Amino acid sequence: MTSNLQPDFFSKLIDELEDYAFLFLDLEGNIQSWNIGAKNIKGYCTEEIIGKNFSCFYTQEDQILKKPENLLAIAFSKGKVQDQGWRIRKDGTSFWGMTTITAIHDNKGNTIGFGKLTRDLTQRKLAEQATIVEIKNKELEQFTYIASHDLQEPLRTVSNYTQLLKEDFSSILNDDAKNYLQAIEYATNRMSMLIRCLLDFSRLGRNKKIAQVNCNLLINQILADLHNLIEENGAQVTVGELYILNAYETEIRQLFQNLISNALKFTKANTPVEIKIGATKNSSFIEYYISDNGIGIDHKYHDRIFQIFKRLNKEQEFDGYGIGLANSKKIIEMHNGKIWVESTLGVGSIFKFTISTTIQ
Ligand code: ADP
Repeated sequence: MTSNLQPDFFSKLIDELEDYAFLFLDLEGNIQSWNIGAKNIKGYCTEEIIGKNFSCFYTQEDQILKKPENLLAIAFSKGKVQDQGWRIRKDGTSFWGMTTITAIHDNKGNTIGFGKLTRDLTQRKLAEQATIVEIKNKELEQFTYIASHDLQEPLRTVSNYTQLLKEDFSSILNDDAKNYLQAIEYATNRMSMLIRCLLDFSRLGRNKKIAQVNCNLLINQILADLHNLIEENGAQVTVGELYILNAYETEIRQLFQNLISNALKFTKANTPVEIKIGATKNSSFIEYYISDNGIGIDHKYHDRIFQIFKRLNKEQEFDGYGIGLANSKKIIEMHNGKIWVESTLGVGSIFKFTISTTIQ
C-alpha cells in the first residue's frame, strides 16, 4: 500500500515545498516542471516559465561566462554539481541561491534530464557580508588610529628643533636659511593637521547615537553658524522641506556642514552665489541634494573626490585638507545610504545623498 502512495506523495511534497525551488530540466536546461518554492523564490508562475531555459535566472555576467551550460555539463559527466551565487528574479532583483543539480537517469543508465534544487540564502549572505565589512572597518580604524598617534611623535620633534633653531640661532641665520625654516614649519603644521584629520576620520561614528533629527532646524542652526561666510559671499541660500530623520545627529550635522561649507567655498569669481538645499521622500529612503553654481567638477573626478585627502585645486586657490567628503561618505555609509555628485566643470555641482528611513 505504501509503495502505491509513494510516487504521488513525493510529487505532492515537491510541489508544495515552499522554501526550496525544485525544477526538472531537460538535457538542454529547458524547464519541464516548477514547484511553489520556485515561484516564491524566483517570482515566475508556472505557465510563463515552463519551456524556458534555466539560464534566465543567472546574471548577464554568468551567462556570458556560460556558467549555466558549464554546470549542466559537470552534472552530466559527474552526476551532480553544487554552486552558489547571485541570481535574478523575474522583477530584476537579486537573491543568493544555493543550488544542487543532479543528473536523472533512465533504467539503462542514460541521462534523461536534471533535477535542480535551489535555496534562497540571501539573508544569510547579507549578514555574512555585513559582518565582514564591519570587521574590516574596525581593523582599518584601529590601524589608522595607531599610525596617526605614532606619526605625531617624530613630527613634534621636527617642530621643536625648528623652533629652537629659530630662537637660538636667529642672529647667525641668513634670509635664505630663515625662509627654509619657515617652509619646514609650514609643512610640519600642515602634516600635523592632516594626521589630526586622519584621527578624526578613524574616530568618526565611535560614539554615534541615534536621535530624531529635524533637518530643517538643523540647517537653520548650521546657516546661523556660517552666517559670516554667507554674508561675505553675498550667497542666496534656498531651503526646501527636509523632513525629520531617525539618524546619528552629530554626524548628520557634520555632513550637512561639510557640503554647505564646500558650496560656499568653491565659488566662481564675479558670480552671485546660489545654493539650494532640498529633499524628496519615498517609502524606504529620503534623497537630499545641495546644489551650487560654483566652479564645478570635471566628470572624471566625480568618484575620486570622495577618497581621503583627494583635492582638485591648488592650496593657494582654495584651502582645505581633502577630508570633508571622505567623512561625508563614511557618515552616509553608517546610515545605509549612498552619496554622489552630479556636476559640470564651470557650471556648478549638485551633491546628492540618500538616508534610509528604516534605520533604528
Ligand atoms: P576640501 O574641501 O578640504 O578640499 P573635501 O573632501 O570637502 O575637501 O573636497 C574634496 C575636493 O572635492 C575639493 O578639494 C574640491 O576639489 C572638490 N569639491 C568638493 N565640493 C565641491 C564643490 N561644491 N564644488 C566644486 N568642487 C568641490
